[in-house]
Amino acid sequence: MQYRNELLRQLPAIDTLLQSNEAANLIRDYSYKTVLIAFRQAIDYARKELINGNIEKCSKVDIITMAEKILNDKNLTGIRKVINCSGTVLHTNLGRSVLPEKAAKAAYIAASNYINIEYDLATGERGDRHAHVEQQLVSLTGCESALFVNNNAAAVLLMLSALVKGGEVVVSRGELVEIGGSFRVPDIMKQSGCYLKEIGTTNKTRYFDYKNAITDSTKAILKVHTSNYKIVGFTEDVDVKRLAELAHDNNMPLLCDLGSGLLETCDNPILENEPSVKEWIEKGADVVCFSGDKLLGGPQAGIIVGKETYISVLKKHPLIRALRMDKITLSALEATLSLYFDCDVADTNIPLRKMLFQDELCIKNRAKIILESINKIDSLSTKLIPSQALVGGGSAPGEYIPSYAICMSHINISPDRLAYLLRQREVPVIGRIHKNSVFLDMFCVFDNDIPLLIQAIKSCGVINE
Ligand SMILES: *Cc1c(COP(=O)(O)O)cnc(C)c1O
Repeated sequence: MQYRNELLRQLPAIDTLLQSNEAANLIRDYSYKTVLIAFRQAIDYARKELINGNIEKCSKVDIITMAEKILNDKNLTGIRKVINCSGTVLHTNLGRSVLPEKAAKAAYIAASNYINIEYDLATGERGDRHAHVEQQLVSLTGCESALFVNNNAAAVLLMLSALVKGGEVVVSRGELVEIGGSFRVPDIMKQSGCYLKEIGTTNKTRYFDYKNAITDSTKAILKVHTSNYKIVGFTEDVDVKRLAELAHDNNMPLLCDLGSGLLETCDNPILENEPSVKEWIEKGADVVCFSGDKLLGGPQAGIIVGKETYISVLKKHPLIRALRMDKITLSALEATLSLYFDCDVADTNIPLRKMLFQDELCIKNRAKIILESINKIDSLSTKLIPSQALVGGGSAPGEYIPSYAICMSHINISPDRLAYLLRQREVPVIGRIHKNSVFLDMFCVFDNDIPLLIQAIKSCGVINE
C-alpha cells in the first residue's frame, strides 16, 4: 500500500500540467476544456498502468505525450459530422446527399427494430423486399418495373452483365466517361463481359454513326449521361427518342446510364439542362439506371427502372444477390421517394432541393450572422464576398450557382494552418484556400449549424489571443 502511494505520487498535478509550455501550445490548438479532459484521461490511464505494474515510472512529459495522442486520435479518427463550407453540394468526400429527416428516421427504425422487409403482413408469408419501392417508382417515373442495388456503378455492371454479355454494345466516344477514379465506362464493360464499339468523336456523334455501327453481333445501344463534365461549343449528340427508335428497329434495347438521377424535369435554372428519368423513359429508353444520392437527394443506391421484359432478366441474375441493397438503405430510399409525390413537399423536405433552390439572401444572411460574431476578433481579418457554389458529385456540370463566402485571414498564421485548425474542431469545418485566404462558402451551411460554426471559429485557440 505504502509502495503504491509512493508510485502514484509521481503523477503530476493537473495544474502543473496546465501551466506548462506544452500545454499552452495544445490549448492554442484545441481549447482549454478539451486539453483539460485529455490530461485527466491521460492521468487516469497512467494511474491504472502504475497500479497494474505495467509501468514503473510516469513523468510529466509522458503524460503530455499521452494527452497529445488522445487529442490527435480524437480529432483524426472516426466518422463524424462536419460543416460543409466547400461550396460543393454533392461532395463525394463529405458523403454526397444529406438525407431528408423522414428518411433518416426510417433508417433508424429499420436499423434498430425487426421490420417487414421480406414479410407480407396480409398473408403472413414471405414477401418481396422491393415491391413497395418498385411501385413508388412506377408511379413517379412511368416505368414498368424497377429494382435496386448498392450504387449506380453496381447498377451499370448488372445491366450490362445481364443484357449484353458476350455481345457488342455501341457507345459514343463523347460518353466514355470516368466517374470518381475507378469507375470508367470502358472498364465496366470489360468486367461485364461485353465488347465496346466506340463510335463518333469526342464532340460529335450523329445518328448515322449509330446506324452504321450496328451489326449482327450488336446487342444494345448504351447512352451515358455525361453528368460530371460538359462539352461546350461545336457539339452534337443524338436524342434519346431517336436512339430508342433505332434500337427497337434493330430488335435491341436502348440502355441508359443517367447517373445524376433527377426524377422529373425541372425548370429551375440550375437544373434545367439536366435530363430526367421520367423524360428518358417517356422517350422510349428500355432500361435507365441512376444514383440514389445525387440529384434524388436520398441514400447511396443504384436504381434501375425500365421495361418489364428487361428488368425481369436483371432480377434473376446471380449478381443481384451480391449487389443487394441493405434494409437500412431500402427504408431510407422508400421514405425519400414518398416525398416526391408532392412537389412542394419535395422542395421543402429534401435537403438537396431545399439547398439548391434557396434564396441568395438566405445565404448572405448566414454570412452576416457569422461575421457579426467574429469580426471583433482583432487578429482575424474577415470579408463577405460573392462566390460560386457547385452542384458537384457528377451533376449539372459547369453550372455555377451564385453564393456568398466568408474570406478569412489571420495576422500570425498561414491560411493552411488556419484551415487545418478549422478541420481540427470538435465539429470540423471544411473550407478551402483561395488567394491566400481561407474561404468558408455559406451555400451548404445549415441554418441550425450557424452557432456551431461560430463556436468552431472562436475555439481555434490562436484566434482568441
Ligand atoms: C455517378 C455516376 C455513376 C456512378 O454512380 P455511383 O452511385 O457513384 O456508383 C455512374 N455513371 C454516371 C453517368 C454517373 O454520373
